[in-house]
Amino acid sequence: MKLKNIFHDIAYTIFPNLCIGCGRKPSSRNSHFCVSCAFNVPFTDHFELKTHYVSSHFFGRFKYDFAGSLFVFRERSIVQNMLHNLKYKRKAYIGTALGEMIGDKATESHIFPRPDIIIPIPIHFSKKYHRGYNQSELIASPIAKKLHCEMMNNLLIKEKTTESQTRKSRSERVINVKESFSINDPTQILKQKHVLLVDDVITTGATIEACAQLLYDHGIDTLSVVSAAAAE
Ligand SMILES: [Zn+2]
Repeated sequence: MKLKNIFHDIAYTIFPNLCIGCGRKPSSRNSHFCVSCAFNVPFTDHFELKTHYVSSHFFGRFKYDFAGSLFVFRERSIVQNMLHNLKYKRKAYIGTALGEMIGDKATESHIFPRPDIIIPIPIHFSKKYHRGYNQSELIASPIAKKLHCEMMNNLLIKEKTTESQTRKSRSERVINVKESFSINDPTQILKQKHVLLVDDVITTGATIEACAQLLYDHGIDTLSVVSAAAAE
């Protein structure tokens, strides 16, 4: 571990309220960001408007009530840095903070539905073992608390790691991803339910579309989708 990282980790232990965007300055009151990051981080308007790039992306691909994201994802941005730290630098508190922000936006929103069940997009158990957690689960947990509904992380299972997608068409990608997930629902909890899927970042949307198809195959009534960030 680099000396810089050790000091960084010590700083977080002493000052737990450091900004989740830059990790350098203390977060401002009632925010997980410092003043500068709060000003620069690209929040979306997805909790106020029904039509935007995420909902348009999924339109016609599967039926949904809400589909949106907290932030716009851009390369070399605060958001990318934040998600990288969450996924690869063991900074689990970033996931919790993102979930709390989504939960607050969702409870204040006039268009955000009240789902019956919240399901985080699962990762393969070997990945979860090495990472120490599933980042989508960290994000989903505070959302479930704020919306007073149950998070179920044992219904949707990632069976195998997905092979390279780059040479595949969109429909081939979805089929390929769908085959890597399975549903374990022996008591048919999903039947006629409104499910909220939670992901850390939406890029091609193939994972969400594959999981949506699988959940509808198992009798859900409605699906909603929320992520911390989504690429334009
Ligand atoms: Zn900051």
